[in-house]
Amino acid sequence: MIERDVVIIGAGPAGLACAVKLKEIGVSDVLLVEREKKLGGILNQCIHDGFGLHNFKESLTGPEYIERYVERLKKFNIDVLSDTMVVNLFQDKSMILSGPWGRERIRAKAIVLAMGCRERTAGAIGLAGSRPAGIYTAGVAQRLMNIDNYMVGNEVVILGSGDVGLIMARRLTLEGARVLMVLEKLPYSSGLPRNIVQCLEDYGIPLYLKTTVTKVYGKARVEGVEYVSLDDDGKPIPGSERFVKCDTLLLSVGLIPENELSREAGVEIHPITGGPIVNDTYQTNIDGVFAAGNVLHVHDLADWASMEGELVAEFAKRYLEGELSKAKRWIDVKAGKGIRYVLPHKISGERDVNFLFRVDSPYKNRYIIVRDKDRVIKKRRVINLHPAVMENINVKSEEMKGIESLEVMVE
Ligand SMILES: Cc1cc2nc3c(=O)[nH]c(=O)nc-3n(C[C@H](O)[C@H](O)[C@H](O)COP(=O)(O)OP(=O)(O)OC[C@H]3O[C@@H](n4cnc5c(N)ncnc54)[C@H](O)[C@@H]3O)c2cc1C
Repeated sequence: MIERDVVIIGAGPAGLACAVKLKEIGVSDVLLVEREKKLGGILNQCIHDGFGLHNFKESLTGPEYIERYVERLKKFNIDVLSDTMVVNLFQDKSMILSGPWGRERIRAKAIVLAMGCRERTAGAIGLAGSRPAGIYTAGVAQRLMNIDNYMVGNEVVILGSGDVGLIMARRLTLEGARVLMVLEKLPYSSGLPRNIVQCLEDYGIPLYLKTTVTKVYGKARVEGVEYVSLDDDGKPIPGSERFVKCDTLLLSVGLIPENELSREAGVEIHPITGGPIVNDTYQTNIDGVFAAGNVLHVHDLADWASMEGELVAEFAKRYLEGELSKAKRWIDVKAGKGIRYVLPHKISGERDVNFLFRVDSPYKNRYIIVRDKDRVIKKRRVINLHPAVMENINVKSEEMKGIESLEVMVE
């Protein structure tokens, strides 16, 4: 069986950045595996700009952002197997690759899971009604329009205010479609506040909160949808049903980390993030198996996914060199009041940690507190907190000396 030092599964922003970083820091035996013919993951279909503001201090389109990494990949002569899918992953860190060239079982000393995420579908949200043509997930519509040059519809309703849906509202408008409304079941948008302004408000597209689609009409093609207002418990308010004529319904109702391979290998999955449970070295419960990017938790910006890939590269190198000493004990990190999830899930208390978290609803003028029972380790004032925005707070190992527990909370 072929043995490699590091195999990275997935060549999106996280996997690409991880591969480049590994080479930069002197790991020579790296293999990057990508199931698509083209490297870059989802960013290939994101032709709008706004990528790279943090990593390159420039506003790039998705393909331009990817090109920056692909150039460096070529410069370092990194081994890439594209059009090749990892179809099985085993606990002993072996995996089966399948491509046009055939199938092969290989093993790695360290594996980086960077498989990204996929979209929630109409089936996943139990949408009632028939299944006529004209219902797309926002990402599929994005791909059809931006890569295949296919216009998906003329009169469009968007269900869900996730970022992909917001970006598609603007894209469809610029292409001449009428985006009639965006409906969101929550009392706040699930997309970034800046996308609400730049993709909806700038184009006069209404966003109706606490509202959802209850029925789709149409046989061959969507002819309209019924939508209702929701009460504070998320239940439809009787009598609030309305009908809007449209030929297209776009769904932007969430992203799911792609962890079928991780589960097969026995990687523990977190119930809230849907990604692997990792410690402060981004290592899963399987020694030498790391995770980065959207497969770990859905990021708001591709830049953060790349940065996570680079961080994981550092840990993977130290793992290969036997320098990633086992922690004497792991402390579970608790997502306290107001926090939906926090990463990493386990810490040793022996190394500095940049905690990443999302809040469970919008807050204004609050404190983010990191504490060990009654002892406050860190406290930071924040003006605005929004569930769509990934937040972070840095804590040094000295500050965690002697801790018995750790909780991140909003106060
Ligand atoms: C539809 C959609 C649209 C988006 N639009 C925007 C946007 O406009 N702006 C923005 O900032 N962010 C956007 N995002 C989020 C952004 O794409 C992510 O933050 C970023 O792409 C995450 O990078 P990643 O490397 O973790 O995952 P991805 O970019 O998803 O890359 C994962 C890669 O892994 C590959 N892969 C998966 N499984 C296997 C396997 N078994 N074997 C081999 N390869 C595999 C996939 O083909 C893919 O190339 C969007 C996300 C989605 C899903």
